Amino acid sequence: MTHNKLHIPGPVEVSQKTFQAMTQPMVGHRSQDFQDLYARIQPSLKTLFGTQQNVFLSTSSAWGVMEGSIRNLVQKKVLNCMCGAFSDKWLDVSQRCGKQAEGLQVEWGSPVLPDLIDQRLSTGMFDALTLVHNETSTGVLNPLADIAALKIKYPDVMFIVDTVSSFSVVDIPFDRLGIDVLLTGSQKALAMPPGLALFTVSPAALERASTTADRGYYFDFLEFQANGSKNMTPSTPSISHLYALESKLEDIFDEGLQARFDRHARLSQRTRDWAANQGFELFCEAGYESRALTCINNGAKEGGRVVDLSVLQKRVREAGIIIDGGYGKIKGKTFRLSNMGDETDQSMSHLYQVLDTALEGL
Ligand SMILES: *Cc1c(COP(=O)(O)O)cnc(C)c1O
Repeated sequence: MTHNKLHIPGPVEVSQKTFQAMTQPMVGHRSQDFQDLYARIQPSLKTLFGTQQNVFLSTSSAWGVMEGSIRNLVQKKVLNCMCGAFSDKWLDVSQRCGKQAEGLQVEWGSPVLPDLIDQRLSTGMFDALTLVHNETSTGVLNPLADIAALKIKYPDVMFIVDTVSSFSVVDIPFDRLGIDVLLTGSQKALAMPPGLALFTVSPAALERASTTADRGYYFDFLEFQANGSKNMTPSTPSISHLYALESKLEDIFDEGLQARFDRHARLSQRTRDWAANQGFELFCEAGYESRALTCINNGAKEGGRVVDLSVLQKRVREAGIIIDGGYGKIKGKTFRLSNMGDETDQSMSHLYQVLDTALEGL
């Protein structure tokens, strides 16, 4: 199979080192070897999550834990903040779990602002809230710290936050933010193969879960807590992914957290500069730009250059790179360039060069 370099916003390119780590021999998931592996990665995970709580490992994609959070924590009604394909979908998922749910929809490309959330929560109707920190479909980074500050006013509302495409891109200190669930997946900023979700849960959320009926089994927070306290997972996990995670944590702490955040900030800024130089405008409202990917307007809204995206994608592919042609209702009218994971100044320069050549005459 020819190797095309992925510059789509997930899955992203996986390093040889990570793949290599996954080839280590299996161990029994109830063995001391497994417990040692689980215990070994906890300190780094806790630092990365900014928490004293156990970090749970779910063999599923992120949606498993997104759905699980609804099943564990919603008793009354959930407010689903909606600003793009992933956050919009969470309303549908809440309803499919048989829960009372209301959508708080803003226009795609705009952030969800705390005042709007405050207004809805003040009705007293809700006991849970979902927020997608970085809306991967639109390239919008929502103001998490300002939104989390509402928690003080609404202590009984469970704040559930998806950081699938912002985790390890920007600092997200779980304990300090005071939120209740922070979840992410393996195949975006962590640059691992898809198949693992990571999450942490506040003591208040565990308390809530303990009184919620029909939590199911596979994503039951109390199962994760009970097994996690013994350095194990409820069911047999993808042990290969945990080897990959151990290797990736090494990479992250070798680079240093701040250096990693700075690298993502710098590379996303370079992509925005590249887009402006080429006459494009961003799909995202100014001031809320993602640092993991850039969503470029290509006719979804007024402004900026518009090109034949299928030709652009085809030309870029001939040069060995895959870029994304928009997601959800803005498919074909936006395109997205990812700088998540292991990307460097050099690898991004190569991407811009390939794009420059591909754009000639378009
Ligand atoms: C990719 C993504 C998801 C879905 O992840 P899966 O691994 O497909 O379950 C959810 N939320 C955001 C913000 C994403 O970028």
